[in-house]
Amino acid sequence: MPTKTHGVANANATNRMTSSQLNELVINWHITEACNYNCTYCFAKWGKPNELHRSLSSIEQLLDKLANYFIHGNPEIKRMLGYQDVRLNFAGGEPIMLGSAFSTALVMAKQKGFQTSIITNGSYLLRRRFELPVNALDMIGISFDSQHSSVRRELGRIDRKGNSLNEDELQLALQLLSHTQKGLKTKINTVVNALNWEEDFTHLISSIAVDKWKVLQVMPTDKHELLISDDQFRRFVEKHSGKGLPISPESNNTMTESYLMIDPNGRFYQNNNGMSGYSYSERIIDVGVEAALSQVNLNCNRFKSRYHVKNMSNISDEVLI
Ligand code: SF4
Repeated sequence: MPTKTHGVANANATNRMTSSQLNELVINWHITEACNYNCTYCFAKWGKPNELHRSLSSIEQLLDKLANYFIHGNPEIKRMLGYQDVRLNFAGGEPIMLGSAFSTALVMAKQKGFQTSIITNGSYLLRRRFELPVNALDMIGISFDSQHSSVRRELGRIDRKGNSLNEDELQLALQLLSHTQKGLKTKINTVVNALNWEEDFTHLISSIAVDKWKVLQVMPTDKHELLISDDQFRRFVEKHSGKGLPISPESNNTMTESYLMIDPNGRFYQNNNGMSGYSYSERIIDVGVEAALSQVNLNCNRFKSRYHVKNMSNISDEVLI
């Protein structure tokens, strides 16, 4: 995600697959690198890309190509996975920072037949700088790592003015969204790290009644002091288990790469097998979906088996959002 919380990765029954079928394919479009936060563990870095959203016609071209291929076409990936719906997940950076460009892309995606979702840090949802178009969003994931402002500050989850979404604002944002987004599914992403692994989220998560609480073990970064052991992560999960919380844990060992990822330039990209960095396709609007996919060596069998492994291991029912 780039990041596994916000620049990444949610859940509901529609994502579950049988051994031969996946109901929903998720495409993650990291629409921008820009973010008002500066999280220490953030992976959403592409080196100031030439972001595609600056041209509305480019947004439309990209969405048309994706819809024609994945929704209306009959590509190999559809035949193999047997998905019924395609969800376009807007990630970042912070997508809402784009304001009207994001609104336009969201509405356009809906019109072209995608299910829609967003991963956001939530900070713009309450500050009246942005109002989501009515009924344009099917799912929202808000990243939230701590009920303590000192921890959020230390993690970099704070903007230049010192604002950092707190638990009351999180609840209010979700409440307000329920008025404008009919049937919205909700998710909280928490990156468990050295600063919050002993924190108790039971009361907060049970009181906000989200559909899913995804907890992710922090991925290795330059900041080694944030890392926790597998045992610490397990203890965090155990502490919150058996309490009726919609918890969905992903440890470092089980966390999958997101397979259909588009960068801010409008290119598919993938983790390099066992190597650092990413490999990129050409821009989808220049060469088309099929050619771009072939450039990142998407392996449908591996893609399918990994969805299957996740499902069978009951660790998580979704690769991303
Ligand atoms: S809030 Fe911004 S800085 Fe933090 S992980 Fe998400 S994209 Fe990165």
